[in-house]
Amino acid sequence: MNKKKRKVKKGWMVLLIFILLLGGVLWISTNRKGPEETKFEEKVPNESNESFDNETKQKLEKLDNIQEKINYFHMDYIDRYISYHEKNPNLSMEDVITRVNIGLDQDYYTHTKESPYLNQVYILSNKYITLSDYVPENLEKVSSSCSTGTRYLVREARLAFEEMCADAKKEGYTINAMSTYRSYEYQVGLYQRYVDQDGVEKADTYSARPGFSEHQTGLVADVDNRKTAYTSFDTTKEYTWMQNNAYKYGFILRYPKGKEDITGYTYESWHYRYVGKEIASYIQENHITFDEYYVRFIEGKK
Ligand SMILES: [Zn+2]
Repeated sequence: MNKKKRKVKKGWMVLLIFILLLGGVLWISTNRKGPEETKFEEKVPNESNESFDNETKQKLEKLDNIQEKINYFHMDYIDRYISYHEKNPNLSMEDVITRVNIGLDQDYYTHTKESPYLNQVYILSNKYITLSDYVPENLEKVSSSCSTGTRYLVREARLAFEEMCADAKKEGYTINAMSTYRSYEYQVGLYQRYVDQDGVEKADTYSARPGFSEHQTGLVADVDNRKTAYTSFDTTKEYTWMQNNAYKYGFILRYPKGKEDITGYTYESWHYRYVGKEIASYIQENHITFDEYYVRFIEGKK
């Protein structure tokens, strides 16, 4: 072989090796799952009955195989679902799953977990989820034309509240924030006063324990119309306005009448929670609580 021919052969060998290497790299990258794809793997919707053992199959049948239809079914809770369904035969299976996911089959404050969604507008605070001593970022002072005293809300909620307050004013309504963000330390003192006054059992029906108050999220405003006591807010024309309009600004009535067994709180016509327009619209349309919305659509989200 002369020099030229050898050079050409060497060139072909290099090209072949290059093609093989490239093919290998491409094969590996297409067959490997990226982090995006693996994120939700632990929560498989529409799980078919086929792969379970007989005992599990029988349990799932007791629950009408509801796991095939919803994606917020947790296999770990299967015995709790069955027991709650037996105690509440009139509830739909979706409601059984939803309520057990909230924790309602267990006593308040007995099985609590830390909120994983700090500084998000969809953070949930109830008698099963604690904020501990969390202090939200971006707390800002609410305009004095929309509040009494010095009141703070998380920036996004403050802007939405002030817009709602200004639009209401144009139509002749006064929506005034009279209590908003409360710190963990403040709630310690407040709750203790209520306990001294009424005892733990009664205090728990209307006041949150420290670390469990939704006011600590910085996304809540108790409102009045600057004339009527806030506890009678539902006797005012402002209340009707809020019922028809609050969701347009991302606010919901958090503890509605008739939902006490789900929210764990007595009806509070004055307590409004900012969740953003999308969630607020869904809740308004479907007449569900934020606790229910959370376990169906938010929990498990990363
Ligand atoms: Zn409140």
